Amino acid sequence: MQQTYPFEALPLPYEIGALEPYISGETLEVHHGRLYNAYVYNLNKLLSDRPELQNLTLEELLRRSVRMPKSVGVPLGRYAGGTYNHVMYFYGMAPESSYRPPQGELARAIDAFFGSFDGFVREFTEAARAVFGSGYTWLAAGRRGLTIINLPNQENPLMTGLYPLMCIDLWEHAYFLDYKNDRAGYIDNWWKLVNWEYAEGKYEEYASARRRS
Ligand code: MN
Repeated sequence: MQQTYPFEALPLPYEIGALEPYISGETLEVHHGRLYNAYVYNLNKLLSDRPELQNLTLEELLRRSVRMPKSVGVPLGRYAGGTYNHVMYFYGMAPESSYRPPQGELARAIDAFFGSFDGFVREFTEAARAVFGSGYTWLAAGRRGLTIINLPNQENPLMTGLYPLMCIDLWEHAYFLDYKNDRAGYIDNWWKLVNWEYAEGKYEEYASARRRS
């Protein structure tokens, strides 16, 4: 995500009903069309009178937000996080018909750190079920390898020195229309929609940034 200010909301990478029956078009209409767009709008509004931040990418803004005075850093983290996290969530899914398990370097790393793909799914599902209140469960990469991490609200692994590879949005707005309070059912069905090609691309971004540094 190399864009800088003014940020533009990205379109969904599939038709609005393409994730049905697991995630309805109605949910995506609210989630992508209204909530995500509001984060992008508020991020631009916050940056509009801060020219010193206008040439930074979302990743740089997120890394920097934790070192800024709270009066700027907190809202910046929320809006930049809400913008970045939602792109990762929407682009990290694809219609069930195109599902395939992870391949290549990422598949090998998952096996190395979690024992097997099934072991990883179990561990990630357990973490997602344990999220209290609003937040996301993340697969992230760092100096010690792959980690599963729960973060509240719109926080992002970049704020903790890790690089995000995939995520599930566990705010109620992500599933309430389709699942009511059955968050476990939403998590189970989300696995059928994971776009592993996207996560593999993020892992490649991480690996090449590490080779350069
Ligand atoms: Mn959301």
